Amino acid sequence: MIPINPLVMVPGPTPIARSIQDQLGRETISFNDPRFVSEFNSLILELKTLWRCDGMAFVIAGSGTMAMEMAVSNVAARGERVLVCSNGHFGDRYIDICSRKGYDLDAIKAPWGASVSLDEIDKSLSEKKTAVLVVTHVETSTGVMLPLLELAEMTRRKHPEVLLVVDGVASAGAAEFYMDWGIDVMLTCSQKGMGMAPGLGILWASKRAIQKRLSMPPIAESFLDFAKWIPVMEDAMAYWGTLPVNMIWGLAEAVRIIKEEGLEERIRRHRFFASAVRRSVSSLGFRPGTPDDLAAPSVSVFFYPEGSGINDTRFRSAVYDEGAHVSACQGDFTGAGFRIGHMGNLTPSMVVSLIAAIERACVRCGCRIKLGTALAVLQEELVGG
Ligand code: PMP
Repeated sequence: MIPINPLVMVPGPTPIARSIQDQLGRETISFNDPRFVSEFNSLILELKTLWRCDGMAFVIAGSGTMAMEMAVSNVAARGERVLVCSNGHFGDRYIDICSRKGYDLDAIKAPWGASVSLDEIDKSLSEKKTAVLVVTHVETSTGVMLPLLELAEMTRRKHPEVLLVVDGVASAGAAEFYMDWGIDVMLTCSQKGMGMAPGLGILWASKRAIQKRLSMPPIAESFLDFAKWIPVMEDAMAYWGTLPVNMIWGLAEAVRIIKEEGLEERIRRHRFFASAVRRSVSSLGFRPGTPDDLAAPSVSVFFYPEGSGINDTRFRSAVYDEGAHVSACQGDFTGAGFRIGHMGNLTPSMVVSLIAAIERACVRCGCRIKLGTALAVLQEELVGG
């Protein structure tokens, strides 16, 4: 049998371009080899420029969860009020992270599939002096995107002293945001919209976030301390922890690809593919987990058609056997549907293969659909777009 890996259509990792894999496979050199130092320094500059950051960008070995912890630890001191908003699995994870750090912690929760209410956030910030507001830009467990620009504008206008920390794990490289919207710390990982393999956390911190960290006493988290990493991010000749050289080369190539496509064009492409996937999968009777106005450009939840009797595990393994890897739902949505990650360096052919695999899986699971229904919708979208 020809060994073919299924298409990686989960919400991270996402398909890795050949040129990125080549960087990962390069012969490793020292992290203080002048050639690497210069490549690293350029990468940090590139990240700051592309996402309009007036402070510092950080590239650190670890996953998105590490970046979540790093982001909040550097701008909130013990005893300060931190307000965390959650509308799903990863917002809840942020509440858990913050609950371990001695903050005066409050949480606003919205039901799964909904967005947190900006009015509720405004009200809570008005009631009590708050140091840090934490939100999730795209909640990967539900596919809901927060209106981040609106939130950032409201926060800056009405609560200018509050620092805004954003989990952009499922948005960077796929959804629109810029640090100059009024974001203080944005965090992401390498393996989603950025299109790289898992292994790196990426953070952008505004000038005032850096000032906040430098005005705080030493923090408990040593490896995650901005103060330890700033000299390295300014010039990789400095040392704090060994830099993951090959991963960084991979990320530099991923950022080069983003620049070549153009960040704005990339975001437009994500919106376009997301809407094409939603229309196409819906045509088979699956129900999107979010209304159109909240739909993320990077990840979608689809509920199984009413009364279809589809078995979740069986369906997802049938999609896998047909050549595409999709994800299970989490938390409140477990078993009721599946998730598709449609982000990163995707091509139209990949999306066509995904939809074709879903159609065949439906038939294999005894679902009465007409083959070609969803493909026809998708093809129309692709030709029209
Ligand atoms: N936040 C969000 C919104 C996520 O989607 C994820 C991962 N799916 C994380 C945080 C955690 O990232 P990681 O799995 O890389 O630790």
